[in-house]
Amino acid sequence: MDSVRLLAVSKTFGPDAVVQAWRAGQDAFGENYIQEGVEKMLAVREQCPQALLQWHCIGPIQSNKTRLVATHFDWVQSVDRLKIAQRLSEQRPPEAPPLQVCLQVNVDGGANKAGVAPDALEALAEAVAPLPRLRLRGLMCIPEPAETWEAQVAVFQRARALFDRLNERGYGLDTLSMGMSENLPAAIAAGSTLVRVGRGVFGFRARKTTG
Ligand SMILES: *Cc1c(COP(=O)(O)O)cnc(C)c1O
Repeated sequence: MDSVRLLAVSKTFGPDAVVQAWRAGQDAFGENYIQEGVEKMLAVREQCPQALLQWHCIGPIQSNKTRLVATHFDWVQSVDRLKIAQRLSEQRPPEAPPLQVCLQVNVDGGANKAGVAPDALEALAEAVAPLPRLRLRGLMCIPEPAETWEAQVAVFQRARALFDRLNERGYGLDTLSMGMSENLPAAIAAGSTLVRVGRGVFGFRARKTTG
């Protein structure tokens, strides 16, 4: 079985929590809110310049935030339209390595409408893959909560099937980002390669998170 990596979702937690997790061996962190994430990574770098961390943007991206993402993040998992991908590629600083990208798929057509529709995924992948300053690595999904284990696994298997199909077409994807505190065993059972865990790592989030 392939190994599953852990992305620690540090949204709403301060730089101290990130440093503490890093001292415990964690090096990949996810942020939903771009401004908050950038401030935090700069604070962590100042406190702990020796920490080599990987920062993933996992939240919605408005056009006016692409430059911040392209300048500061290592990965972005929430790309769901070509215009955003093009801006990220144009704005990625020339001295930085390519920005690592996952396409967000609305795998269950959920009320949370972020993500490309499954039937539009291949066209988006085809358009994003050649962008020069991006590297397409995989897919990300955030399904609606499902009641049963079987229902959870079924929706994650749909994402896995989309991932496998792109690889049959030669995309060479290695990252399938799915599973959070509530449903990560089902995501792993369905073939997740990267789980995104917030409360399971940092504990209760006191501050209500808004988009
Ligand atoms: C908050 C968040 C997570 C982590 O959620 P937890 O329930 O705290 O594990 C994972 N992915 C995304 C996109 C999130 O916004």
